[in-house]
Amino acid sequence: MSRDLKYTRNIGIAAHIDAGKTTTTERILYYAGVNHKLGETHEGSATTDWMAQEQERGITITSAAVTVFWNYRGNKYNVNIIDTPGHVDFTVEVNRSLRVLDGLVFLFSAVDGVEPQSETNWRLADNYKVPRIGFVNKMDRSGADFLAVVKQVKEMLGSEAVPLQLPIGAEDNFKGVVDLINNRGIVWNEEDKGMTFTEVPIPDDMLDDVAQWREKLLESVASYDESLMEKFFDDPNSITEREVLDALRKAVLDNSIVPMVCGSSFKNKGVQTMLDFVMELLPSPMDQEAVKGTNPRTEEEISRKPDVKEPFAALAFKIATDPFVGRLCFIRVYSGNLEAGSYVYNSRSDNKERISRIFQMHANKQNPIPNIGAGDIGAVVGFKDIKTGDTLCDEKNPIVLESMVFPEPVIGLA
Ligand code: GDP
Repeated sequence: MSRDLKYTRNIGIAAHIDAGKTTTTERILYYAGVNHKLGETHEGSATTDWMAQEQERGITITSAAVTVFWNYRGNKYNVNIIDTPGHVDFTVEVNRSLRVLDGLVFLFSAVDGVEPQSETNWRLADNYKVPRIGFVNKMDRSGADFLAVVKQVKEMLGSEAVPLQLPIGAEDNFKGVVDLINNRGIVWNEEDKGMTFTEVPIPDDMLDDVAQWREKLLESVASYDESLMEKFFDDPNSITEREVLDALRKAVLDNSIVPMVCGSSFKNKGVQTMLDFVMELLPSPMDQEAVKGTNPRTEEEISRKPDVKEPFAALAFKIATDPFVGRLCFIRVYSGNLEAGSYVYNSRSDNKERISRIFQMHANKQNPIPNIGAGDIGAVVGFKDIKTGDTLCDEKNPIVLESMVFPEPVIGLA
């Protein structure tokens, strides 16, 4: 069993403390659970069942990586959320997670905007060229200002931040967004905790702003795509939603554009639409270049493509203890495939060890899986001698993955 890498996302959530990372992560787990059930059963009642269960239990994320499923435009995505510590004291850990993830949701508070740790984490993400989406949270709070945060991202972080939405209503009355790509207004439904939304006409008093910001969006995206630029000058109305999304994805992948969306995770608004954009715009493991390393025997530089047919290569990025399954080693697999119960070579220790089980961690359970393939993230049980940063690989094709180079902590921003 190997998954289609096109439908895998390895993402982290980065934020200054208090911007709402915990709340947003919990909502992601919640919505993904409901969305997954809906995708399985095609019955609305699954939503309420799942909601009742989860309300009783409460969902929290305690794992270094948690896997959720998300149905988007007819495809089921496998999303691994890698824990990305917010506090500046954990810069090394942030580096470690940035090394293994493919894309970031960068959270800002709509009231506080760009804060010192946003700045530190943004620079670290720049070092690793991690494509990202900006999520401006807390839109329900007094003083919330989405466009002011977009401006700060441009001015303080020097990135081409481009709004994909404009909020409908503000503060207490924040209830929806206009999607500037398809010119559609939506309002989240309160009765199912914002799981679904209702389409609404663009409010009259927003028509001018929407037209103006949509034009800016099209122009920004078109400037990274020649054929779109021609259309933009000929007849902007002939540009389709798919064309914008495809060109935007390219610009996001090469870090030219940071798309910005908004919501209030606390009020169950906007997390779902943000997740849709994660599937649409952030890279899959297949979009990554081949990972580089050296052959420990010859010192020759080698690389591994994100393909299950390549020799196995994975990086151990976190060792943790789970009360139910014991010592877990979280790995990011770059190439090849690893079977539970097999032997795997560690290029640091020059030893082979038998791994007993492989798990994918979910919000409410550990799911044993028979194997783990290129592009995926999971937790392995059975190692006796393992350290974070170790490369696990095929003994006949050994590789030491580029060691995690930790830039000096950024001092003086706080
Ligand atoms: P973290 O430190 O980034 O993990 O932030 P938390 O998720 O713990 O949130 C910090 C505080 O902000 C908590 O009191 C949350 O209830 C609150 N909060 C989070 N998201 C929102 C939001 O969208 N709106 C409002 N009004 N409060 C929020």
